[in-house]
Amino acid sequence: MKEQIDTIPVNEAFEDSGECPFCHLERQAEQRAMRYTLGPGASYMEPDVRAVTDRRGFCRQHFKKMYDYGNSLGNALVMQTYFVGLLKELEYQTDTFVMPEKKGFLSKKPVEETDLLKWAREKTATCFLCDKLAYNMNRYYVTFFHMIKDPQFREKVASSKGFCMHHFVQLLEAAREKLPNAQREWFYETVCRLMKENLARVQGDLDWFIDKFDYRNAGADWKNSKDAVSRSMQKLQGGFPADGPYKQN
Ligand SMILES: [Zn+2]
Ligand SMILES: [Zn+2]
Repeated sequence: MKEQIDTIPVNEAFEDSGECPFCHLERQAEQRAMRYTLGPGASYMEPDVRAVTDRRGFCRQHFKKMYDYGNSLGNALVMQTYFVGLLKELEYQTDTFVMPEKKGFLSKKPVEETDLLKWAREKTATCFLCDKLAYNMNRYYVTFFHMIKDPQFREKVASSKGFCMHHFVQLLEAAREKLPNAQREWFYETVCRLMKENLARVQGDLDWFIDKFDYRNAGADWKNSKDAVSRSMQKLQGGFPADGPYKQN
């Protein structure tokens, strides 16, 4: 079962979770997906993989990461066939384009959306790597809600540093469907406590970081505040702001 395979990384993430175990899992999954997409396995040369990248494309954030990763030829090849499909669709959209009606002089109603706009919006909204990440994160949430039936794992979660706000949202969303009834109370009580305690802890680190700039504190210990800025950013929106680009080899 998929759940069984995933218990190992989820367990590990909660052992050394830092500010958010799901950020840790997400980073692993993203790097794995990058290696799969552009790495030495050259999946982009397989027609069935290319068919998917041609259909889904890549988002701005992932293009940047793909550029930083390296493998210019791999990047070029992936985009080459994407362009073919894009231009064909654009030709169809422009050939069948119906110009929107003129906006009435006093009308507050916005001009109706054209098919061209809908199509263009959709083309820029999908991403092969985002799809892979969403698929993996969903599996991790399924695994998490399976694992919390185990008291030992519950203990691990209870003593973790909580979650970033981004994954807190995802976790609450996943809970609506996947949370076992028997763990309902434990889950909401624990997660709420973890979020309160740990957001306050990071806020404290940030306060001390700022206080350290006061000349009276110049000689004082940094305590846990040296990386308070990147950890605060992570707590607020997820990810690892201090990470350098992930590169091939
Ligand atoms: Zn996170
Ligand atoms: Zn993406």
